[in-house]
Amino acid sequence: MTYNKKTIEDIAVAGKKVIARCDFNVPMKDGVITDDKRIVGALPTIKYLLDQGAAVILCSHFGRPHNILDAKLELDKKEKKKVEALPEAEQAAATAKFLEAAKGDDKKFSLAPVAKRLSELLGIEVQMATDVVGPDAKAKAAALRPGQVLLLENVRFHKKETKNDPEFAKEMASMAEIFVNDAFGTAHRAHASTAGLADYLPAVCGYLIQKEISIMGGALADPKRPFVAILGGAKVSDKIGVINNLIEKVDTLIVGGGMAYTFFKAQGLEIGTSICEHDKLDLALELMAKAKAKGVRFLLPLDNKLGREYAPDTESMVVDSDSIPAGWMGLDVGPKTQALFAEVLANAGTVIWNGPMGVSEWDNFAAGTEAVAKAVAESDAISIIGGGDSAAAVEKLGFADRMTHVSTGGGASLEFLEGKTLPGIACLLDK
Ligand code: ADP
Ligand code: MG
Repeated sequence: MTYNKKTIEDIAVAGKKVIARCDFNVPMKDGVITDDKRIVGALPTIKYLLDQGAAVILCSHFGRPHNILDAKLELDKKEKKKVEALPEAEQAAATAKFLEAAKGDDKKFSLAPVAKRLSELLGIEVQMATDVVGPDAKAKAAALRPGQVLLLENVRFHKKETKNDPEFAKEMASMAEIFVNDAFGTAHRAHASTAGLADYLPAVCGYLIQKEISIMGGALADPKRPFVAILGGAKVSDKIGVINNLIEKVDTLIVGGGMAYTFFKAQGLEIGTSICEHDKLDLALELMAKAKAKGVRFLLPLDNKLGREYAPDTESMVVDSDSIPAGWMGLDVGPKTQALFAEVLANAGTVIWNGPMGVSEWDNFAAGTEAVAKAVAESDAISIIGGGDSAAAVEKLGFADRMTHVSTGGGASLEFLEGKTLPGIACLLDK
Protein backbone atom coordinates (compact mmCIF):
# COMPACT_ATOMS: atom_id res chain seq x y z
CA MET A 1 0.00 0.00 0.00
CA THR A 2 1.44 3.35 -0.92
CA TYR A 3 0.00 6.44 0.60
CA ASN A 4 0.41 9.98 -0.60
CA LYS A 5 -1.43 11.88 2.09
CA LYS A 6 -1.73 15.54 2.94
CA THR A 7 0.21 16.58 6.00
CA ILE A 8 -0.19 19.42 8.47
CA GLU A 9 1.93 21.51 6.11
CA ASP A 10 -0.61 21.10 3.29
CA ILE A 11 -3.53 22.70 5.13
CA ALA A 12 -4.05 26.17 6.61
CA VAL A 13 -4.28 25.80 10.37
CA ALA A 14 -3.77 29.41 11.48
CA GLY A 15 -6.59 30.55 13.74
CA LYS A 16 -8.25 27.14 13.46
CA LYS A 17 -9.14 24.63 16.12
CA VAL A 18 -7.27 21.44 15.36
CA ILE A 19 -7.95 18.11 17.01
CA ALA A 20 -4.85 15.93 16.92
CA ARG A 21 -4.91 12.21 17.73
CA CYS A 22 -1.62 11.31 19.39
CA ASP A 23 -0.26 8.12 20.89
CA PHE A 24 0.13 8.96 24.56
CA ASN A 25 -0.24 5.34 25.62
CA VAL A 26 2.92 5.65 27.73
CA PRO A 27 4.26 3.22 30.30
CA MET A 28 3.15 4.41 33.72
CA LYS A 29 3.63 3.09 37.25
CA ASP A 30 1.57 4.44 40.15
CA GLY A 31 0.67 7.56 38.21
CA VAL A 32 4.30 8.26 37.23
CA ILE A 33 5.34 8.13 33.56
CA THR A 34 8.33 5.79 33.32
CA ASP A 35 9.19 6.54 29.68
CA ASP A 36 8.09 9.73 27.92
CA LYS A 37 9.43 8.81 24.47
CA ARG A 38 5.97 8.85 22.92
CA ILE A 39 5.20 12.30 24.33
CA VAL A 40 8.53 13.63 23.09
CA GLY A 41 7.81 12.04 19.71
CA ALA A 42 4.57 13.99 19.41
CA LEU A 43 6.23 17.37 20.05
CA PRO A 44 7.21 18.32 16.46
CA THR A 45 3.61 18.09 15.26
CA ILE A 46 2.20 19.91 18.28
CA LYS A 47 4.84 22.65 18.09
CA TYR A 48 4.24 23.16 14.39
CA LEU A 49 0.51 23.58 14.96
CA LEU A 50 1.12 26.05 17.80
CA ASP A 51 3.70 28.01 15.81
CA GLN A 52 1.21 28.29 12.96
CA GLY A 53 -1.34 29.81 15.32
CA ALA A 54 -3.71 26.89 15.77
CA ALA A 55 -5.63 26.13 18.95
CA VAL A 56 -4.64 22.54 19.63
CA ILE A 57 -6.95 19.92 21.10
CA LEU A 58 -5.12 16.67 21.76
CA CYS A 59 -6.62 13.26 22.29
CA SER A 60 -5.30 9.74 22.86
CA HIS A 61 -6.14 6.40 24.35
CA PHE A 62 -4.38 5.12 27.42
CA GLY A 63 -4.57 1.49 28.53
CA ARG A 64 -7.80 -0.44 28.58
CA PRO A 65 -10.22 1.10 31.06
CA HIS A 66 -13.67 -0.30 31.61
CA ASN A 67 -15.47 2.35 29.61
CA ILE A 68 -16.39 4.16 32.74
CA LEU A 69 -17.52 7.49 31.37
CA ASP A 70 -20.04 5.76 29.15
CA ALA A 71 -21.27 3.88 32.14
CA LYS A 72 -21.51 7.03 34.21
CA LEU A 73 -23.36 8.87 31.50
CA GLU A 74 -25.79 6.00 31.30
CA LEU A 75 -26.10 5.64 35.01
CA ASP A 76 -29.32 7.60 35.00
CA LYS A 77 -30.84 5.26 32.45
CA LYS A 78 -29.35 1.80 32.20
CA GLU A 79 -27.67 1.48 35.58
CA LYS A 80 -30.64 3.00 37.30
CA LYS A 81 -32.85 0.30 35.84
CA LYS A 82 -30.48 -2.41 37.05
CA VAL A 83 -30.20 -0.84 40.46
CA GLU A 84 -33.96 -0.44 40.69
CA ALA A 85 -34.40 -4.12 39.93
CA LEU A 86 -32.57 -4.92 43.17
CA PRO A 87 -34.33 -5.18 46.52
CA GLU A 88 -34.68 -1.70 47.94
CA ALA A 89 -32.29 -2.33 50.82
CA GLU A 90 -29.46 -3.13 48.36
CA GLN A 91 -29.93 -0.22 45.99
CA ALA A 92 -27.88 2.44 47.75
CA ALA A 93 -24.94 0.08 48.21
CA ALA A 94 -25.05 -1.00 44.54
CA THR A 95 -25.02 2.59 43.31
CA ALA A 96 -22.17 3.53 45.65
CA LYS A 97 -20.16 0.50 44.59
CA PHE A 98 -20.62 1.34 40.93
CA LEU A 99 -19.54 4.94 41.37
CA GLU A 100 -16.58 3.95 43.52
CA ALA A 101 -15.34 1.52 40.86
CA ALA A 102 -15.77 4.26 38.29
CA LYS A 103 -13.64 6.63 40.36
CA GLY A 104 -10.79 4.13 40.65
CA ASP A 105 -10.77 3.59 36.92
CA ASP A 106 -10.97 7.31 36.23
CA LYS A 107 -7.78 7.86 38.13
CA LYS A 108 -5.85 4.85 36.97
CA PHE A 109 -6.53 5.47 33.29
CA SER A 110 -6.54 9.25 33.33
CA LEU A 111 -4.28 11.12 30.93
CA ALA A 112 -3.70 13.86 33.53
CA PRO A 113 -0.03 12.84 34.12
CA VAL A 114 0.53 13.20 30.36
CA ALA A 115 -0.86 16.76 30.40
CA LYS A 116 1.58 17.59 33.17
CA ARG A 117 4.60 16.13 31.37
CA LEU A 118 3.55 17.75 28.11
CA SER A 119 3.34 21.13 29.87
CA GLU A 120 6.92 20.70 31.07
CA LEU A 121 8.15 19.71 27.61
CA LEU A 122 6.31 22.48 25.75
CA GLY A 123 6.97 25.12 28.38
CA ILE A 124 3.33 26.24 28.30
CA GLU A 125 0.27 25.17 30.25
CA VAL A 126 -1.55 22.17 28.82
CA GLN A 127 -5.14 22.23 30.02
CA MET A 128 -6.71 18.93 30.95
CA ALA A 129 -10.36 18.17 30.30
CA THR A 130 -12.04 15.84 32.77
CA ASP A 131 -14.03 14.19 29.97
CA VAL A 132 -13.88 13.52 26.24
CA VAL A 133 -17.10 14.88 24.76
CA GLY A 134 -18.73 16.02 27.99
CA PRO A 135 -19.42 19.53 29.27
CA ASP A 136 -15.89 20.14 30.57
CA ALA A 137 -14.20 19.21 27.27
CA LYS A 138 -16.70 21.23 25.26
CA ALA A 139 -16.40 24.34 27.43
CA LYS A 140 -12.61 24.23 27.45
CA ALA A 141 -12.45 23.56 23.69
CA ALA A 142 -14.80 26.44 22.99
CA ALA A 143 -12.66 28.83 25.05
CA LEU A 144 -9.36 27.62 23.58
CA ARG A 145 -7.30 30.37 21.89
CA PRO A 146 -4.63 30.08 19.18
CA GLY A 147 -1.36 28.96 20.75
CA GLN A 148 -3.14 27.12 23.57
CA VAL A 149 -3.30 23.38 24.18
CA LEU A 150 -6.04 21.23 25.63
CA LEU A 151 -5.78 17.49 26.28
CA LEU A 152 -9.03 15.54 26.31
CA GLU A 153 -9.46 12.67 28.74
CA ASN A 154 -8.73 9.08 27.65
CA VAL A 155 -10.88 8.36 24.58
CA ARG A 156 -11.21 4.73 25.65
CA PHE A 157 -13.31 5.79 28.61
CA HIS A 158 -16.04 5.42 25.98
CA LYS A 159 -16.85 2.12 24.36
CA LYS A 160 -18.05 4.18 21.45
CA GLU A 161 -14.39 4.97 20.69
CA THR A 162 -13.37 1.44 19.73
CA LYS A 163 -16.76 0.82 18.11
CA ASN A 164 -16.14 3.83 15.89
CA ASP A 165 -19.58 5.13 16.78
CA PRO A 166 -20.46 7.88 14.27
CA GLU A 167 -22.36 9.99 16.82
CA PHE A 168 -19.40 9.91 19.18
CA ALA A 169 -16.98 10.84 16.39
CA LYS A 170 -19.31 13.66 15.37
CA GLU A 171 -19.39 15.01 18.92
CA MET A 172 -15.62 15.00 19.12
CA ALA A 173 -15.41 16.59 15.69
CA SER A 174 -17.82 19.35 16.74
CA MET A 175 -15.09 20.83 18.96
CA ALA A 176 -12.63 21.35 16.08
CA GLU A 177 -12.25 22.35 12.42
CA ILE A 178 -9.39 20.13 11.30
CA PHE A 179 -8.38 16.57 12.24
CA VAL A 180 -4.72 15.58 12.43
CA ASN A 181 -3.85 11.94 12.93
CA ASP A 182 -0.37 11.43 14.33
CA ALA A 183 -0.85 8.13 16.15
CA PHE A 184 0.75 5.48 13.97
CA GLY A 185 0.47 2.79 16.64
CA THR A 186 -3.34 2.79 16.33
CA ALA A 187 -3.56 3.56 12.62
CA HIS A 188 -4.48 -0.07 11.87
CA ARG A 189 -7.65 0.37 13.93
CA ALA A 190 -10.82 2.03 12.68
CA HIS A 191 -11.80 3.78 15.90
CA ALA A 192 -13.66 7.06 16.34
CA SER A 193 -10.54 9.09 17.15
CA THR A 194 -8.28 7.31 14.64
CA ALA A 195 -10.54 7.28 11.60
CA GLY A 196 -14.13 8.29 12.46
CA LEU A 197 -13.21 11.97 12.88
CA ALA A 198 -12.22 12.09 9.21
CA ASP A 199 -15.89 11.67 8.26
CA TYR A 200 -16.64 15.07 9.74
CA LEU A 201 -13.44 17.10 9.37
CA PRO A 202 -10.76 17.68 6.75
CA ALA A 203 -8.08 15.20 7.83
CA VAL A 204 -4.31 15.21 7.41
CA CYS A 205 -1.37 13.44 9.02
CA GLY A 206 1.21 14.75 11.46
CA TYR A 207 4.97 14.28 11.17
CA LEU A 208 5.09 10.86 12.84
CA ILE A 209 2.64 9.21 10.48
CA GLN A 210 4.15 11.06 7.56
CA LYS A 211 7.58 9.61 8.40
CA GLU A 212 6.19 6.11 8.71
CA ILE A 213 4.42 6.22 5.37
CA SER A 214 7.19 7.92 3.47
CA ILE A 215 9.98 5.64 4.68
CA MET A 216 8.15 2.33 5.00
CA GLY A 217 5.87 2.98 2.08
CA GLY A 218 8.78 4.21 -0.03
CA ALA A 219 10.85 1.13 0.71
CA LEU A 220 8.00 -1.20 -0.19
CA ALA A 221 7.04 0.64 -3.36
CA ASP A 222 10.43 1.51 -4.78
CA PRO A 223 13.24 -0.13 -2.80
CA LYS A 224 16.91 0.49 -3.34
CA ARG A 225 18.25 -2.94 -4.27
CA PRO A 226 19.27 -5.47 -3.22
CA PHE A 227 16.21 -5.50 -0.99
CA VAL A 228 16.65 -7.84 1.98
CA ALA A 229 13.96 -8.78 4.47
CA ILE A 230 15.05 -10.44 7.67
CA LEU A 231 12.31 -12.06 9.69
CA GLY A 232 12.43 -13.75 13.05
CA GLY A 233 10.45 -14.10 16.22
CA ALA A 234 8.72 -17.08 17.70
CA LYS A 235 5.96 -17.98 15.29
CA VAL A 236 5.51 -18.36 11.56
CA SER A 237 1.78 -17.87 12.01
CA ASP A 238 2.34 -14.28 13.24
CA LYS A 239 4.30 -13.45 10.12
CA ILE A 240 2.54 -15.29 7.28
CA GLY A 241 1.06 -12.07 5.93
CA VAL A 242 4.41 -10.28 6.12
CA ILE A 243 6.30 -13.11 4.41
CA ASN A 244 3.69 -13.41 1.67
CA ASN A 245 3.77 -9.70 0.92
CA LEU A 246 7.56 -9.32 1.12
CA ILE A 247 8.27 -12.38 -1.05
CA GLU A 248 6.72 -10.39 -3.90
CA LYS A 249 9.20 -7.56 -3.44
CA VAL A 250 12.52 -8.64 -1.98
CA ASP A 251 15.68 -10.07 -3.52
CA THR A 252 16.62 -12.02 -0.39
CA LEU A 253 14.45 -13.31 2.42
CA ILE A 254 16.23 -14.33 5.62
CA VAL A 255 14.38 -16.35 8.23
CA GLY A 256 15.83 -16.75 11.73
CA GLY A 257 14.53 -16.95 15.28
CA GLY A 258 12.09 -19.54 16.53
CA MET A 259 10.16 -19.65 13.27
CA ALA A 260 13.15 -21.13 11.42
CA TYR A 261 12.52 -24.49 13.13
CA THR A 262 9.13 -24.89 11.49
CA PHE A 263 10.94 -24.54 8.14
CA PHE A 264 13.58 -27.10 9.18
CA LYS A 265 10.97 -29.54 10.38
CA ALA A 266 9.04 -29.13 7.12
CA GLN A 267 12.20 -30.19 5.28
CA GLY A 268 12.43 -33.32 7.41
CA LEU A 269 15.23 -32.20 9.72
CA GLU A 270 15.45 -33.12 13.40
CA ILE A 271 14.75 -30.05 15.52
CA GLY A 272 14.77 -31.55 19.02
CA THR A 273 12.46 -29.62 21.34
CA SER A 274 12.72 -26.35 19.39
CA ILE A 275 9.57 -24.30 19.00
CA CYS A 276 7.62 -25.55 15.99
CA GLU A 277 4.15 -25.05 14.55
CA HIS A 278 3.28 -28.52 13.31
CA ASP A 279 0.17 -27.28 11.53
CA LYS A 280 2.27 -24.86 9.47
CA LEU A 281 4.67 -27.34 7.87
CA ASP A 282 2.88 -27.36 4.50
CA LEU A 283 2.70 -23.60 4.57
CA ALA A 284 6.45 -23.41 5.23
CA LEU A 285 7.11 -25.56 2.16
CA GLU A 286 4.72 -23.47 0.09
CA LEU A 287 6.49 -20.27 1.12
CA MET A 288 9.86 -21.75 0.19
CA ALA A 289 8.49 -22.90 -3.17
CA LYS A 290 7.05 -19.46 -3.76
CA ALA A 291 10.41 -17.84 -3.02
CA LYS A 292 12.07 -20.22 -5.45
CA ALA A 293 9.52 -19.55 -8.18
CA LYS A 294 10.04 -15.81 -7.79
CA GLY A 295 13.81 -16.10 -7.83
CA VAL A 296 14.05 -14.85 -4.26
CA ARG A 297 17.10 -16.07 -2.34
CA PHE A 298 15.79 -17.76 0.80
CA LEU A 299 18.19 -18.12 3.73
CA LEU A 300 17.77 -20.14 6.91
CA PRO A 301 20.27 -20.44 9.79
CA LEU A 302 23.36 -22.58 9.09
CA ASP A 303 23.97 -23.25 12.77
CA ASN A 304 22.17 -22.76 16.06
CA LYS A 305 22.85 -22.15 19.71
CA LEU A 306 20.85 -24.80 21.52
CA GLY A 307 19.70 -24.94 25.10
CA ARG A 308 18.81 -27.93 27.24
CA GLU A 309 15.61 -26.25 28.31
CA TYR A 310 13.78 -22.98 27.89
CA ALA A 311 15.64 -21.00 30.55
CA PRO A 312 18.09 -18.06 30.54
CA ASP A 313 21.07 -19.92 31.99
CA THR A 314 20.42 -23.38 30.65
CA GLU A 315 23.36 -25.51 29.45
CA SER A 316 24.08 -24.64 25.82
CA MET A 317 25.98 -25.71 22.70
CA VAL A 318 26.34 -24.73 19.04
CA VAL A 319 25.56 -27.20 16.24
CA ASP A 320 24.87 -27.07 12.51
CA SER A 321 21.23 -27.02 11.47
CA ASP A 322 21.32 -30.61 10.20
CA SER A 323 22.72 -31.94 13.48
CA ILE A 324 20.28 -30.84 16.17
CA PRO A 325 20.09 -33.70 18.68
CA ALA A 326 16.86 -34.81 20.34
CA GLY A 327 16.23 -33.16 23.71
CA TRP A 328 17.78 -29.79 22.80
CA MET A 329 16.09 -26.64 21.61
CA GLY A 330 17.29 -23.89 19.30
CA LEU A 331 17.29 -20.56 21.11
CA ASP A 332 19.57 -18.45 18.90
CA VAL A 333 21.38 -18.53 15.57
CA GLY A 334 25.02 -19.62 15.71
CA PRO A 335 28.23 -17.81 14.67
CA LYS A 336 28.35 -19.13 11.06
CA THR A 337 24.83 -17.89 10.56
CA GLN A 338 25.66 -14.53 12.10
CA ALA A 339 28.56 -14.14 9.65
CA LEU A 340 26.41 -15.12 6.65
CA PHE A 341 23.49 -12.87 7.57
CA ALA A 342 25.84 -9.97 8.38
CA GLU A 343 27.50 -10.29 4.96
CA VAL A 344 24.17 -10.27 3.12
CA LEU A 345 22.94 -7.30 5.17
CA ALA A 346 26.18 -5.36 4.65
CA ASN A 347 25.61 -5.41 0.89
CA ALA A 348 21.91 -4.58 0.97
CA GLY A 349 20.35 -1.45 -0.47
CA THR A 350 17.24 -1.74 1.67
CA VAL A 351 16.69 -3.82 4.80
CA ILE A 352 13.40 -4.52 6.50
CA TRP A 353 13.82 -6.33 9.78
CA ASN A 354 11.08 -7.78 11.89
CA GLY A 355 11.55 -10.29 14.69
CA PRO A 356 14.59 -11.17 16.83
CA MET A 357 16.97 -13.97 15.76
CA GLY A 358 16.62 -15.75 19.09
CA VAL A 359 15.43 -15.30 22.63
CA SER A 360 17.18 -11.96 22.74
CA GLU A 361 15.65 -11.08 26.12
CA TRP A 362 18.27 -13.50 27.56
CA ASP A 363 21.93 -12.45 27.32
CA ASN A 364 23.06 -16.02 26.54
CA PHE A 365 20.85 -16.13 23.44
CA ALA A 366 21.08 -12.51 22.26
CA ALA A 367 24.24 -12.78 20.12
CA GLY A 368 22.38 -13.51 16.87
CA THR A 369 20.07 -10.54 17.26
CA GLU A 370 22.99 -8.35 18.25
CA ALA A 371 25.05 -9.43 15.22
CA VAL A 372 22.16 -8.62 12.91
CA ALA A 373 21.52 -5.27 14.59
CA LYS A 374 25.20 -4.38 14.26
CA ALA A 375 25.36 -5.41 10.61
CA VAL A 376 22.27 -3.39 9.76
CA ALA A 377 23.52 -0.38 11.71
CA GLU A 378 26.88 -0.49 9.93
CA SER A 379 25.52 -0.98 6.42
CA ASP A 380 24.66 1.92 4.13
CA ALA A 381 21.27 0.39 3.45
CA ILE A 382 17.99 2.11 4.11
CA SER A 383 17.08 0.22 7.27
CA ILE A 384 13.62 -0.19 8.70
CA ILE A 385 12.85 -1.97 11.92
CA GLY A 386 9.25 -3.01 12.48
CA GLY A 387 7.67 -4.89 15.37
CA GLY A 388 7.60 -4.25 19.09
CA ASP A 389 10.20 -6.76 20.26
CA SER A 390 12.60 -6.02 17.41
CA ALA A 391 12.40 -2.29 18.08
CA ALA A 392 12.97 -2.93 21.80
CA ALA A 393 16.01 -5.11 21.05
CA VAL A 394 17.54 -2.49 18.76
CA GLU A 395 16.94 0.22 21.37
CA LYS A 396 18.41 -1.88 24.15
CA LEU A 397 21.51 -2.63 22.09
CA GLY A 398 21.97 1.09 21.40
CA PHE A 399 21.65 0.85 17.61
CA ALA A 400 18.35 2.69 17.18
CA ASP A 401 20.02 5.97 16.13
CA ARG A 402 21.88 4.23 13.35
CA MET A 403 18.79 2.82 11.66
CA THR A 404 16.97 4.84 9.02
CA HIS A 405 13.70 4.21 10.80
CA VAL A 406 12.50 2.30 13.83
CA SER A 407 8.76 2.05 13.42
CA THR A 408 6.80 3.17 16.48
CA GLY A 409 3.80 0.96 15.91
CA GLY A 410 4.12 -2.76 16.64
CA GLY A 411 0.86 -4.09 15.21
CA ALA A 412 0.47 -1.20 12.79
CA SER A 413 3.91 -1.68 11.27
CA LEU A 414 3.25 -5.39 10.81
CA GLU A 415 -0.01 -4.65 9.00
CA PHE A 416 1.79 -2.09 6.89
CA LEU A 417 4.41 -4.69 5.95
CA GLU A 418 1.61 -7.13 5.15
CA GLY A 419 0.39 -4.63 2.59
CA LYS A 420 -2.92 -4.11 4.40
CA THR A 421 -4.86 -0.88 4.29
CA LEU A 422 -4.54 1.09 7.53
CA PRO A 423 -7.88 2.82 8.22
CA GLY A 424 -6.28 5.64 10.24
CA ILE A 425 -4.20 6.57 7.20
CA ALA A 426 -6.55 5.66 4.37
CA CYS A 427 -9.11 8.14 5.80
CA LEU A 428 -6.77 11.14 5.36
CA LEU A 429 -6.93 13.54 2.41
CA ASP A 430 -4.85 12.58 -0.60
CA LYS A 431 -2.26 15.03 -1.90
P1 ADP B 1 8.23 -8.52 17.03
O1 ADP B 1 7.53 -8.04 18.28
O2 ADP B 1 9.47 -7.73 16.75
O3 ADP B 1 7.29 -8.61 15.86
P2 ADP B 1 7.89 -11.26 17.73
O4 ADP B 1 6.92 -10.88 18.79
O5 ADP B 1 7.38 -11.92 16.52
O6 ADP B 1 8.76 -9.99 17.31
O7 ADP B 1 8.99 -12.24 18.31
C1 ADP B 1 9.67 -11.98 19.52
C2 ADP B 1 9.65 -13.17 20.41
O8 ADP B 1 10.18 -14.32 19.75
C3 ADP B 1 10.51 -12.96 21.63
O9 ADP B 1 9.72 -13.11 22.78
C4 ADP B 1 11.56 -14.06 21.55
O10 ADP B 1 11.89 -14.60 22.80
C5 ADP B 1 10.88 -15.10 20.70
N1 ADP B 1 11.83 -16.01 20.06
C6 ADP B 1 12.78 -15.70 19.17
N2 ADP B 1 13.51 -16.80 18.84
C7 ADP B 1 13.00 -17.82 19.57
C8 ADP B 1 13.33 -19.20 19.68
N3 ADP B 1 14.33 -19.75 18.99
N4 ADP B 1 12.60 -19.96 20.52
C9 ADP B 1 11.59 -19.41 21.23
N5 ADP B 1 11.23 -18.12 21.16
C10 ADP B 1 11.93 -17.32 20.33
MG1 MG C 1 6.22 -9.07 19.62
